[in-house]
Amino acid sequence: MAAKTALETDELALSKKYPHIIKGTIRDVSNGKGKFHHKRSVEIKCTFKGCKETRRVATSDLAQVKFCEEHTRSERLRRRRAARLVTVEV
Ligand SMILES: [Zn+2]
Repeated sequence: MAAKTALETDELALSKKYPHIIKGTIRDVSNGKGKFHHKRSVEIKCTFKGCKETRRVATSDLAQVKFCEEHTRSERLRRRRAARLVTVEV
């Protein structure tokens, strides 16, 4: 087996910090087309209970992105609703 590439080493470090990363999916900046052509990206597993969706995100967004697109939307709505309840409280 060849030694780990710098990219694989980075992925390992990232996956320790962000356990929802799917190992082996990191992609370096490429010259190709697509949403992440100018960014390093990796696939994540949606952390919503029971959800098996995956999603490619820029590694720089890993701290914010924990859900698939659908659950990102539903979580945002839930949080907004919760915030409204707090502000109503006297
Ligand atoms: Zn999901």
